[in-house]
Amino acid sequence: MNLELREQVAKAMGHNRHSWPFLPGTSAGFPKCVHCGETLYYHEPEKQAGWCYGDDPLPYESDIAAAWLVVEFMRGKGWEFRSWCGHDEVFNAVFENQREHPEAYSLAEAPTAPEAICRAALAALGDKQ
Ligand SMILES: [Zn+2]
Repeated sequence: MNLELREQVAKAMGHNRHSWPFLPGTSAGFPKCVHCGETLYYHEPEKQAGWCYGDDPLPYESDIAAAWLVVEFMRGKGWEFRSWCGHDEVFNAVFENQREHPEAYSLAEAPTAPEAICRAALAALGDKQ
């Protein structure tokens, strides 16, 4: 389980962690998340680092069904997807976007297909948002 990779993918797909302009207990009262507008009260410390809309990230990096949502998200942005298992059981994932970015080609290798998909997607989006 790679929580850092999972979080990076979630953010790339447009999900946000709550972000509070200040913490409860100040004279300003109770803060509202700058993304979703939810209020943080004293008795909700578990909400402090949570995700907007209760949107905890799926296990994109370890579950092929969740990783496929990343593929569909990328396709929606015009990226074509290919994947294959190469030598030594290494999975390869490629995203290409010739239509909008003629040079855009992102290849990642990983021990599992979901991880390869996540790494290729992040590399693609990092280069050409
Ligand atoms: Zn929020």
